[in-house]
Amino acid sequence: MGAAPLLEVRNLVKHFPITKGFIFSKQVGAVQAVDGISFSINKGETLGLVGESGCGKSTTGRLLLRLIEATAGEVWFEGRNVLELGKEELRELRRDMQIIFQDPYASLNPRMTVGDIIGEPMQIHGIARGTEKEKRVQELLEVVGLASYHARRYPHEFSGGQRQRIGVARALAVNPKIIVCDEPVSALDVSIQAQVVNLLQDLQEEYGLTYLFIAHDLSVVKHISDRVAVMYLGKIVELTSKQALYDNPLHPYTKALLSAIPVPDPTLVRERVILEGDVPSPINPPSGCRFHTRCPVATDVCLVEEPEFQDVGEGHFVACHLV
Ligand code: SF4
Repeated sequence: MGAAPLLEVRNLVKHFPITKGFIFSKQVGAVQAVDGISFSINKGETLGLVGESGCGKSTTGRLLLRLIEATAGEVWFEGRNVLELGKEELRELRRDMQIIFQDPYASLNPRMTVGDIIGEPMQIHGIARGTEKEKRVQELLEVVGLASYHARRYPHEFSGGQRQRIGVARALAVNPKIIVCDEPVSALDVSIQAQVVNLLQDLQEEYGLTYLFIAHDLSVVKHISDRVAVMYLGKIVELTSKQALYDNPLHPYTKALLSAIPVPDPTLVRERVILEGDVPSPINPPSGCRFHTRCPVATDVCLVEEPEFQDVGEGHFVACHLV
């Protein structure tokens, strides 16, 4: 794991406006999907980003690549603020920053052969054409554990795990520096999940890749992550090394998420924290600490004052009044 941040996110915000009226539509509110998050990812590192559905983690991934536009904030990548790049610079950036989606079937064009799907980004970015492109496609198929003859087949001829391998090959086709893995194994059978995670780890080692690995539970990111960020209702509530997060979680929400993971060692007893209620709406999030409506240890101050996201030592960031 290198020390220099490859990507740095500062106070990133995404509010989706809610409008009313057909002709003279006016904004009547906003979905606060991402609300002022900051983090960095070092070169060669995997940062896990975890939270329940609707917490803003996938929106965050899309904001980094500008698949959707941010409301405010900065995303620094190799000395440039991605959010300020013009069309042409953005096109170049897409070579360095790739994304793998949760549903590999929906993200692969069913009318294109696998060879064309993997070859297309190479053509768009002028990396390879003709027989050179075909050769590179075959190499990539083998790299991700498929066979070169698969290039002539169509996505529907493959299983879910194989389709995700095709998605990985397509992302690799442009030699990216960072890949946003947006719940890449959530739609796969448990037995296949480990294979895809192992593949991603092997590729990281071989190509020096950097990952933002998004998942909805902490058990999936445990093996692949160097550090883990936990998101709740548009905010990062805890961010630290994998070791510190799993051995010494400080935020009550992280503790609750961890307590839901079965412990393989029967002699180890982990305190079970049951979260009451559903995640509140991001349209009208709770005052003070957004977690206070479900927090088992909330106090009066939590209702009125938002806790600061701060380093409590050795790069362990947490946002809680009690820490
Ligand atoms: Fe719970 Fe209060 Fe900490 Fe929020 S600030 S996590 S409500 S104790």
